Amino acid sequence: MRRSWKFLLRPTARQAAALTACLEDHRQLYNAALEHRRTAYAKADVSIRYGDQSADLKHIRSGDPGGQDRWSFSSQQATLRRLDKAFAAFFERVKAGRTPGFPRFKGRSRFGTVTWPKDGDGCRWDSQPEHPAATYVRLQGVGHVRVHRHRPVKGRVKTISVKREGSRWYVILSCDEVPAQSLPATGAAAGIDLGVASLVTTSGGGHLGNPRHLAAIADRLADAQRDLARKQRGSKRRRKAVARVAALHAKVRRQRLDHAHKAALALVRDYDVIVHEALKVANMTRSASGTLDAPGRGVAAKSGLNRSILDAGWGVFLTVLAYKAESAGRELIAVEPRNTSRTCAECGHVAKENRLTQAAFRCTACGHAAHADVNAAINILRTGLALREAAQAA
Ligand SMILES: [Zn+2]
Repeated sequence: MRRSWKFLLRPTARQAAALTACLEDHRQLYNAALEHRRTAYAKADVSIRYGDQSADLKHIRSGDPGGQDRWSFSSQQATLRRLDKAFAAFFERVKAGRTPGFPRFKGRSRFGTVTWPKDGDGCRWDSQPEHPAATYVRLQGVGHVRVHRHRPVKGRVKTISVKREGSRWYVILSCDEVPAQSLPATGAAAGIDLGVASLVTTSGGGHLGNPRHLAAIADRLADAQRDLARKQRGSKRRRKAVARVAALHAKVRRQRLDHAHKAALALVRDYDVIVHEALKVANMTRSASGTLDAPGRGVAAKSGLNRSILDAGWGVFLTVLAYKAESAGRELIAVEPRNTSRTCAECGHVAKENRLTQAAFRCTACGHAAHADVNAAINILRTGLALREAAQAA
């Protein structure tokens, strides 16, 4: 199976400057390649392909000594491929009859990652210059950068990426052939409901992950964004406000991931079979397409931001849960959400009125009363087990 690891980098001041230059040159390459495609398309109605642009790289490098030629050919190709993907996605959406935005030029704040597609090609994980006790990654044009490797890396390193988040640098390793670590069977199954008060509520009545302090950061983020909107373009205060917003975003991401890991770990330890509701795609794309980065202004901003942070949290959680379940040899079942929150787990009566408040469920037919999320989780479990039985019978 595949897995990725993310570690903090500890570059020297010189290396940090080199990383910044590396990122900036890759960004300019991306933008230049985009410009090339746009003009060719607009002026001559010609479509430029990845192969054409990759072939141009040689000339770009030889024409820019001490500039583009400092970096790895392969990471530059990966950047061109990234642009190619953006175009492929664009044409896909056009074909589907939607009206997507044309791929955009990347500003400094929108280009944070450089990827080396193959360990050993312009980069080397765990390359040892002199300190056998520490871990380093060697990057072409940057040198041996020290890595805060807080856990062991398993499997074979495939790709290496460097990412800037605020003022920090991270290395992300994508590995394959990661050995699965099966956990002993527990004989237990659970349905889980993803919610607002608790990240996860289980059919057994357990609550995992309290997103309340995420909501607190969301409030601060909304304030910081409003503050940013008032600052004058190009001013020093605006730069500071931008940094503050970025730092809060990073904090939200870290906490979200931390919660997701903890909740997912607890679930795979306790249950052989875990059933969850499939997330609605619309919700996920809405948060992925930038609601989080550019929420609306005014009164709705806070609740909208809150909402999108929670939405994104569920997506992150399910991703983490999926790989933990796979690694532990657990079975994960997704069911279509259908009346789970308004169906009585006791008698099956479906009514909107069953749901008294966000937290309280009371069946209007049989009087069964329960925590609304627990009631939903039981329905989810039942649907999942029925699906499983049907699949096994087929
Ligand atoms: Zn009932």
